[in-house]
Amino acid sequence: MFDTAYKHSLMPLVVGLALAALPGLSQADHSWGGYHWARTTAEFTLKLGNNLTTDDWRLLLSQASSDWNSPELFGAASTPLLTSIVTGQSKRNCSMVKGTTQVCNAKYGAIGWLGLASINITGGTHITQGTAKMNDTYFNLATYNNPYEKQHVMCQEIAHTFGLDHQSEDGSSQNSCMDYFSNTGDNAGSSLSTRPNAHDFEELATIYDHTDSTTTVAASTTTAPSAADVDITDDPRSWGMLVRQSTNGRSSIYERFNRDGSRTLTHVYWTIEAATNCPSCDHRYVKT
Ligand SMILES: [Zn+2]
Ligand SMILES: [Zn+2]
Repeated sequence: MFDTAYKHSLMPLVVGLALAALPGLSQADHSWGGYHWARTTAEFTLKLGNNLTTDDWRLLLSQASSDWNSPELFGAASTPLLTSIVTGQSKRNCSMVKGTTQVCNAKYGAIGWLGLASINITGGTHITQGTAKMNDTYFNLATYNNPYEKQHVMCQEIAHTFGLDHQSEDGSSQNSCMDYFSNTGDNAGSSLSTRPNAHDFEELATIYDHTDSTTTVAASTTTAPSAADVDITDDPRSWGMLVRQSTNGRSSIYERFNRDGSRTLTHVYWTIEAATNCPSCDHRYVKT
């Protein structure tokens, strides 16, 4: 178990050092543990199941999907991963569906997180299914209820299910939705960091520069839902063990080992309040 925690916390550092030692190579270095969808073609389409309950969120998902499909708008030549929005297939709220990413919003409660992305992994690195959830308990509050903050979180959570990690977690803006710039307070009117940047597409190209002999991506929308015991629930205790947390406490990764031998990894986007209250705490167990 230590081994896993170590691997996750050191991976970005090791990759960063390796790149620093080899000038001229791409600076892209924010893969999430090398996790990727298995597929047999250079380019593939990931289905995003739309389980969203408001026009507001549906519009933001459309924008995020369209942005991730448009590398040329952000100074990148191409992308290996196209997204297409399909009818949501989750049985209960955001249960996983094999070969897809299911996208949801709900009032998940005042439990400290704004956004949540989970992926199920088999064979070490292959993503088999994912979910992205937005917590309306916070997005309905004045602090978070603005289109830029919501777009930022939507864009980021779905991209975690592509295998992307953050570009930075210190609150600075890289003008990528894969950072932790906060579009709140004085920055509530800022569109910075609400969309991908060229660096995100470089990283996707790196993650998907090989093809696999099998595929984990659903070809149709009629794939059967997966077994419940590899899924996480709305109960944060189902996320498993905390394996990484940013210094400011806003970002955490949890890992759970499932009975079928697969793992479920969860990226958590904590609220400003939960993070500030105790940056180094496991926010699941702190009352705010
Ligand atoms: Zn592979
Ligand atoms: Zn994140």
